[in-house]
Amino acid sequence: MNSQKTIKKNFTLSGITLHSAEISNIKVNPAPANTGILFKRTDLKVPHIESLLNANIENVVYSELCTKLSNEYGHSVSTIEHLMSAFHGLEIDNAIIEIDKAELPILDGSSLEYVSEIERAGIKNLQAKRKIINITRPIIFRDNDSYIKVTPANNMSINYTIVYDHKLINKQNFIFDLDSTYNYKNIISNSRTFGFKDEVEFLRDKGLIAGGSLENAIVLDDDGIMNQSVLRYDDEFVRHKVLDFIGDIYLLGYRVRGNFEIFKGGHRLTHELIKSIMSDRSNWKYKDDILDSDEITFSSLNHKKKLSASL
Ligand SMILES: [Zn+2]
Repeated sequence: MNSQKTIKKNFTLSGITLHSAEISNIKVNPAPANTGILFKRTDLKVPHIESLLNANIENVVYSELCTKLSNEYGHSVSTIEHLMSAFHGLEIDNAIIEIDKAELPILDGSSLEYVSEIERAGIKNLQAKRKIINITRPIIFRDNDSYIKVTPANNMSINYTIVYDHKLINKQNFIFDLDSTYNYKNIISNSRTFGFKDEVEFLRDKGLIAGGSLENAIVLDDDGIMNQSVLRYDDEFVRHKVLDFIGDIYLLGYRVRGNFEIFKGGHRLTHELIKSIMSDRSNWKYKDDILDSDEITFSSLNHKKKLSASL
């Protein structure tokens, strides 16, 4: 049985937030089967139910620079994508995250610390079958020259291309199959977020990314990177986009099988694709739908045989 998973014991993490520059403290707890990924704002003096935010596409609200959830009571939690990526990459289906701010810590700009803490806590199998969905037909979402496309496949594969007019990037492509926690950890999880110096100054003037620094993002200027540290990979930029995508696509609420091709993507493009997938029930089916219907046919055949034998 492909069983659902959670963590064995809780862990805590603290750090500065990218946008509000506050110290955010999170406690990640094990959760029972079928909980999904659930955030709880512990700083709000509101009834328990109003402090909860499910990580699914229905709660996603538009945000330019990160992935943000907001519930029906108007409470939100931002910058969830790197933790979501770690959960997806390490196959964690269920967890409850208590958080005392409206934003997760940015840490080093990658998901490596989340991955290390999840591994240290340990992973536990639950007595419930994991639901996986298969994409049944090609679906594409375009925005100017950007697009994201999914086609049916037997595994989850990602083919990501980015294009930036900068000598360290130009055009980068990365192909990754999300079929091994080992590969996620070793190939994707330590790639950091990045930005350009001009853009960073513009956003700072607008009061955004107040907590951003060379400690938690790669910053590019005309000459190269401004950080003291070197790039972790020449193609760290596109690997980070894959990391973000793995986090955002998990807002489907299921693991998914499909071949995803992304050209100049971003958070919003992934969210729009998820909405397109979920807008029509015939776009996807549970992995075991065929098996289930075979079983029904088989048992009804047996039933018919029994009937004819008794006649
Ligand atoms: Zn990111």
